[in-house]
Amino acid sequence: MKFGTKAIHAGVEPDPTTGAIMTPIYQTSTYVQKSPGDHKGYEYSRTHNPTRTALQNALAALENGKHGLCFATGMAATDAIIKLLQPGDEVISTNDLYGGSYRIFTKIFQNYGIKFHFTDMSNLANVEALVNEKTRMIWVETPTNPLLNIIDIKGCAAIAKSKNILLIVDNTFATPYLQTPLDLGADIVTLSLTKYMGGHSDVVMGALVVKNDELAERLAFIQNACGGTPGPQDCFLVLRGIKTLHIRMERHCQNGRKVAEYLQQHPKVEKVFWPGFEDHKNHHIAKEQMRDFGGMISFVLKGDRQEDAIKTLEQFRYFSLAESLGGVESLCGHPASMTHASIPKEERLKAGLSDSLIRLSVGIEDAEDLLADLEQAIG
Ligand SMILES: *Cc1c(COP(=O)(O)O)cnc(C)c1O
Repeated sequence: MKFGTKAIHAGVEPDPTTGAIMTPIYQTSTYVQKSPGDHKGYEYSRTHNPTRTALQNALAALENGKHGLCFATGMAATDAIIKLLQPGDEVISTNDLYGGSYRIFTKIFQNYGIKFHFTDMSNLANVEALVNEKTRMIWVETPTNPLLNIIDIKGCAAIAKSKNILLIVDNTFATPYLQTPLDLGADIVTLSLTKYMGGHSDVVMGALVVKNDELAERLAFIQNACGGTPGPQDCFLVLRGIKTLHIRMERHCQNGRKVAEYLQQHPKVEKVFWPGFEDHKNHHIAKEQMRDFGGMISFVLKGDRQEDAIKTLEQFRYFSLAESLGGVESLCGHPASMTHASIPKEERLKAGLSDSLIRLSVGIEDAEDLLADLEQAIG
C-alpha cells in the first residue's frame, strides 16, 4: 500500500456494530465482562481503548513499524522511553535538541542517575567519541529544532547496532511522509502528534512506533503502568488529521521552498537555515533519507539584533506568533525566549542558536500571501 492510501485506510475498520466508516469516539472508561476475564479484548481504558487502537495501528503502518503506542503528549512519550533505563545508564543526544526534551533529560532524569551527553551529531565522529560501555541510547532528532541540522540516521544506526545500543529518532519535524527512521535502522520512533500529524493545532498528543515485539511489550507495560495515555476524543482528532497528512505535507514542502528561496535573496536577511539548500552542510544526507525538505525554516536578520527580530515578529499578519508548529496555519517564533528558553544562554550560543533567530512553521496558505507578509514584516 502506498503512503496516501495508508494515511486514509490503515488501522481503520468500519465499526463492527454499525458499519460507521469513521472509528467512533469510544468515550468509556470500562467494558462489561460476561464472566470474570471473559471480555472482547478491552478491560479498562488506560490499558486499551478502541479509538486509540485504531490510531495506534494507523501510526504503526505509516512509520513502517509493527506497534504504535499513544501518549497524552509528546513529552509523555519521551518519558516512557527513558523509563526503559536504569541509574548509571548513559544517553547520547544532539546539542540543538527540542527544548522540552533537553529539560526532561537534565531537570528530571539526571536526578535519577541517568547521564546525558549533548554533542553536535551532524558530525558522527562526535557521537562515536562519546560511546562507552554504559551507553544505552542514541537519541536523534532530525531535522533539528530550530537550526534544521541534519543527522545521518543510517550512520547512527551503524554505531548503535555494533554496541547493542537503542537508536531513538524524534520524527516530529519530518513525519513519516518525509522519512521513516525504522527503515533506516532506528529501534524507536517518537512523535509529537501535536504538530504535523494532528496538523490542525487543536490537540496535544504523542506516540511511539517500534518493530520489535519485546520492546513494544516493555513500552506498553510502561504506558499502562505510568498511565500517560490520551483520551478517545483526542485520538479521533489525530486519526482524522492524518488522513490528509500526505496532501498537507506536500503543500508545506512547496511553500517551504518558496519561503526559503525568498528569504535567501532578501537584502536584510543574513542567513537562512533550511536543509533543501545545496550548500546546507548535510544536504546530501537530507536528500538521501528524506523525501522532501519540509516547511520548517529559521533565519537571522543582518546585524543580528534581538530588537529587529522582535519587531519583525510583531509585524507579521499571517505568520502568528505562537509556540508549536506543523499546523495548517503559518506560525512564527523566537526560540531564544520561547521554545528554547529552558536551555542556558551559554549552551544555546554554543549550538549556534542566536538571540535574533526567527523560526517559521510555513503553513498551507497560498504562497503569494505568505511572501507578501514576509515582505511587509521584514521591510
Ligand atoms: C513539540 C515537540 C515535542 C514535544 O511534544 P508535545 O506534544 O508538545 O509534548 C517533542 N519533540 C519535538 C521535536 C517537538 O517539536
